[in-house]
Amino acid sequence: SAFSALGLCDALAYAVQEKGYTEPTPIQAQSIPVILEGRDLIGSAQTGTGKTAAFALPIIQKLGGHGPLRCLVLEPTRELALQVEEAFQHYAKFTDLAVTIVYGGVGYGKQLEDLQRGVDILAATPGRLLDHLEQGNCSLADVDILVLDEVDRMLDMGFLPDVKRIVQQTPKSRQTLFFTATVPPEIASLAGWALRDPVRVEI
Ligand code: AMP
Repeated sequence: SAFSALGLCDALAYAVQEKGYTEPTPIQAQSIPVILEGRDLIGSAQTGTGKTAAFALPIIQKLGGHGPLRCLVLEPTRELALQVEEAFQHYAKFTDLAVTIVYGGVGYGKQLEDLQRGVDILAATPGRLLDHLEQGNCSLADVDILVLDEVDRMLDMGFLPDVKRIVQQTPKSRQTLFFTATVPPEIASLAGWALRDPVRVEI
Protein backbone atom coordinates (compact mmCIF):
# COMPACT_ATOMS: atom_id res chain seq x y z
CA SER A 1 0.00 0.00 0.00
CA ALA A 2 0.93 3.68 -0.09
CA PHE A 3 1.62 3.40 3.64
CA SER A 4 4.05 0.48 3.19
CA ALA A 5 5.87 2.61 0.62
CA LEU A 6 6.60 5.12 3.41
CA GLY A 7 8.39 2.36 5.32
CA LEU A 8 5.61 1.11 7.58
CA CYS A 9 5.41 -2.62 8.34
CA ASP A 10 2.48 -4.78 7.16
CA ALA A 11 0.69 -4.85 10.53
CA LEU A 12 0.57 -1.05 10.68
CA ALA A 13 -0.39 -0.70 7.01
CA TYR A 14 -3.23 -3.13 7.81
CA ALA A 15 -4.34 -1.19 10.93
CA VAL A 16 -4.54 1.95 8.79
CA GLN A 17 -6.40 0.20 5.98
CA GLU A 18 -8.87 -1.11 8.55
CA LYS A 19 -9.59 2.51 9.55
CA GLY A 20 -10.49 3.15 5.91
CA TYR A 21 -7.50 5.32 5.02
CA THR A 22 -6.37 4.68 1.46
CA GLU A 23 -3.79 7.44 0.96
CA PRO A 24 -1.44 9.11 3.44
CA THR A 25 -2.23 12.80 4.08
CA PRO A 26 0.55 15.31 3.18
CA ILE A 27 1.80 15.52 6.78
CA GLN A 28 1.92 11.70 6.94
CA ALA A 29 3.75 11.38 3.61
CA GLN A 30 6.35 13.93 4.70
CA SER A 31 6.78 12.97 8.35
CA ILE A 32 6.65 9.16 8.52
CA PRO A 33 9.97 8.51 6.68
CA VAL A 34 11.72 11.28 8.65
CA ILE A 35 10.54 9.88 12.00
CA LEU A 36 11.46 6.30 11.05
CA GLU A 37 14.96 7.59 10.21
CA GLY A 38 15.30 8.94 13.75
CA ARG A 39 15.48 12.63 12.87
CA ASP A 40 14.01 15.42 15.00
CA LEU A 41 11.09 17.17 13.34
CA ILE A 42 9.31 20.52 13.59
CA GLY A 43 5.93 20.51 11.88
CA SER A 44 3.39 23.27 11.29
CA ALA A 45 0.41 20.92 10.96
CA GLN A 46 -2.82 21.58 12.85
CA THR A 47 -5.47 19.19 14.15
CA GLY A 48 -7.51 17.69 11.31
CA THR A 49 -4.55 17.10 8.99
CA GLY A 50 -3.85 13.53 10.07
CA LYS A 51 -1.04 14.68 12.35
CA THR A 52 -1.74 12.09 15.06
CA ALA A 53 -1.22 9.11 12.75
CA ALA A 54 1.79 10.91 11.23
CA PHE A 55 3.64 10.48 14.52
CA ALA A 56 1.82 7.51 16.12
CA LEU A 57 2.46 5.02 13.30
CA PRO A 58 6.26 5.42 13.02
CA ILE A 59 6.59 5.62 16.82
CA ILE A 60 4.80 2.28 17.27
CA GLN A 61 7.03 0.72 14.62
CA LYS A 62 10.19 2.07 16.27
CA LEU A 63 9.24 0.89 19.77
CA GLY A 64 8.50 -2.61 18.49
CA GLY A 65 7.56 -4.38 21.73
CA HIS A 66 6.94 -3.95 25.43
CA GLY A 67 9.60 -2.33 27.62
CA PRO A 68 9.94 0.70 29.91
CA LEU A 69 8.26 4.08 29.25
CA ARG A 70 9.90 5.14 25.97
CA CYS A 71 7.44 7.55 24.35
CA LEU A 72 5.91 10.63 25.97
CA VAL A 73 3.37 12.83 24.15
CA LEU A 74 2.55 16.17 25.81
CA GLU A 75 -0.78 17.78 24.94
CA PRO A 76 -2.34 21.08 26.13
CA THR A 77 -5.76 19.61 26.98
CA ARG A 78 -7.38 16.47 28.29
CA GLU A 79 -9.45 16.17 25.07
CA LEU A 80 -6.37 16.18 22.83
CA ALA A 81 -4.55 13.78 25.15
CA LEU A 82 -7.55 11.41 24.98
CA GLN A 83 -7.63 11.56 21.16
CA VAL A 84 -3.93 10.75 20.98
CA GLU A 85 -4.25 7.91 23.47
CA GLU A 86 -7.15 6.39 21.50
CA ALA A 87 -5.22 6.63 18.23
CA PHE A 88 -2.17 4.89 19.76
CA GLN A 89 -4.44 2.21 21.29
CA HIS A 90 -5.97 1.51 17.91
CA TYR A 91 -2.77 1.40 15.86
CA ALA A 92 -0.91 -0.60 18.53
CA LYS A 93 -3.56 -3.27 18.94
CA PHE A 94 -1.51 -5.83 16.99
CA THR A 95 1.47 -5.26 19.33
CA ASP A 96 2.10 -5.81 23.04
CA LEU A 97 2.78 -2.10 23.60
CA ALA A 98 0.93 -0.55 26.55
CA VAL A 99 -0.54 2.92 26.15
CA THR A 100 -1.97 5.11 28.89
CA ILE A 101 -2.91 8.67 29.75
CA VAL A 102 -2.62 11.11 32.65
CA TYR A 103 -4.43 14.45 32.93
CA GLY A 104 -5.61 16.81 35.65
CA GLY A 105 -9.00 17.36 37.23
CA VAL A 106 -9.58 13.73 38.21
CA GLY A 107 -8.27 11.44 40.96
CA TYR A 108 -4.77 9.96 40.99
CA GLY A 109 -5.71 6.35 41.83
CA LYS A 110 -6.52 4.89 38.42
CA GLN A 111 -3.66 6.79 36.75
CA LEU A 112 -1.23 5.50 39.38
CA GLU A 113 -2.42 1.91 38.84
CA ASP A 114 -2.02 2.28 35.06
CA LEU A 115 1.49 3.69 35.46
CA GLN A 116 2.48 0.93 37.88
CA ARG A 117 1.27 -1.75 35.47
CA GLY A 118 4.00 -0.65 33.06
CA VAL A 119 3.52 1.61 30.07
CA ASP A 120 5.42 2.09 26.81
CA ILE A 121 3.57 5.15 25.52
CA LEU A 122 2.17 7.92 27.73
CA ALA A 123 -0.10 10.78 26.61
CA ALA A 124 -0.16 13.53 29.23
CA THR A 125 -1.03 17.10 30.10
CA PRO A 126 1.95 18.88 31.68
CA GLY A 127 0.72 19.77 35.20
CA ARG A 128 -0.57 16.34 36.13
CA LEU A 129 2.50 14.63 34.66
CA LEU A 130 4.75 16.82 36.85
CA ASP A 131 2.68 15.80 39.90
CA HIS A 132 3.20 12.11 39.06
CA LEU A 133 6.92 12.69 38.47
CA GLU A 134 7.28 14.52 41.81
CA GLN A 135 5.53 11.65 43.58
CA GLY A 136 7.85 9.15 41.90
CA ASN A 137 4.96 7.44 40.10
CA CYS A 138 6.85 7.24 36.82
CA SER A 139 10.24 8.08 35.36
CA LEU A 140 11.23 9.66 32.04
CA ALA A 141 14.78 8.29 32.16
CA ASP A 142 14.16 5.81 29.31
CA VAL A 143 12.20 8.13 27.00
CA ASP A 144 13.52 7.69 23.44
CA ILE A 145 10.84 9.71 21.66
CA LEU A 146 9.28 12.91 22.98
CA VAL A 147 6.35 14.53 21.18
CA LEU A 148 5.52 18.16 22.02
CA ASP A 149 2.16 18.65 20.34
CA GLU A 150 0.16 21.87 19.86
CA VAL A 151 3.03 23.84 21.42
CA ASP A 152 1.41 27.18 20.54
CA ARG A 153 -1.64 26.22 22.60
CA MET A 154 0.60 25.11 25.46
CA LEU A 155 2.20 28.58 25.32
CA ASP A 156 -1.22 30.30 25.36
CA MET A 157 -2.23 28.25 28.39
CA GLY A 158 0.94 29.17 30.29
CA PHE A 159 2.39 25.64 30.22
CA LEU A 160 5.84 26.34 28.75
CA PRO A 161 7.65 26.43 32.14
CA ASP A 162 6.11 23.02 32.99
CA VAL A 163 7.00 21.71 29.53
CA LYS A 164 10.63 22.76 30.03
CA ARG A 165 10.81 21.04 33.41
CA ILE A 166 9.47 17.85 31.84
CA VAL A 167 11.85 17.97 28.85
CA GLN A 168 14.74 18.31 31.32
CA GLN A 169 13.81 14.94 32.83
CA THR A 170 14.17 13.13 29.49
CA PRO A 171 17.52 11.93 28.07
CA LYS A 172 19.42 14.35 25.81
CA SER A 173 19.80 11.51 23.29
CA ARG A 174 16.04 11.36 22.68
CA GLN A 175 14.29 12.00 19.34
CA THR A 176 11.99 15.04 19.59
CA LEU A 177 8.93 15.77 17.43
CA PHE A 178 7.56 19.30 17.78
CA PHE A 179 4.24 20.53 16.35
CA THR A 180 3.05 24.12 16.37
CA ALA A 181 0.83 26.16 14.04
CA THR A 182 2.64 29.43 14.81
CA VAL A 183 6.21 30.20 15.84
CA PRO A 184 6.32 33.27 18.11
CA PRO A 185 9.74 34.02 19.70
CA GLU A 186 9.11 31.97 22.89
CA ILE A 187 8.38 28.92 20.73
CA ALA A 188 11.34 29.49 18.43
CA SER A 189 13.53 29.60 21.51
CA LEU A 190 11.99 26.43 23.00
CA ALA A 191 12.46 24.64 19.66
CA GLY A 192 16.09 25.76 19.44
CA TRP A 193 16.68 24.38 22.93
CA ALA A 194 14.73 21.11 22.61
CA LEU A 195 15.46 20.04 19.01
CA ARG A 196 18.64 18.84 17.32
CA ASP A 197 19.05 19.62 13.62
CA PRO A 198 15.31 19.22 12.95
CA VAL A 199 13.69 18.51 9.61
CA ARG A 200 11.00 21.14 8.91
CA VAL A 201 7.67 19.93 7.64
CA GLU A 202 5.16 22.56 6.55
CA ILE A 203 1.76 21.81 5.12
P1 AMP B 1 -5.78 14.40 13.29
O1 AMP B 1 -5.32 15.57 12.48
O2 AMP B 1 -4.67 13.51 13.68
O3 AMP B 1 -6.64 14.83 14.45
O4 AMP B 1 -6.73 13.50 12.34
C1 AMP B 1 -7.89 14.04 11.77
C2 AMP B 1 -8.82 12.96 11.25
O5 AMP B 1 -8.35 12.42 10.02
C3 AMP B 1 -8.98 11.78 12.18
O6 AMP B 1 -10.36 11.48 12.29
C4 AMP B 1 -8.26 10.64 11.50
O7 AMP B 1 -8.87 9.40 11.79
C5 AMP B 1 -8.38 10.99 10.03
N1 AMP B 1 -7.26 10.52 9.20
C6 AMP B 1 -5.96 10.46 9.56
N2 AMP B 1 -5.18 10.01 8.54
C7 AMP B 1 -6.02 9.80 7.49
C8 AMP B 1 -5.83 9.31 6.14
N3 AMP B 1 -4.60 8.99 5.68
N4 AMP B 1 -6.92 9.21 5.36
C9 AMP B 1 -8.14 9.55 5.82
N5 AMP B 1 -8.40 10.00 7.08
C10 AMP B 1 -7.34 10.12 7.91
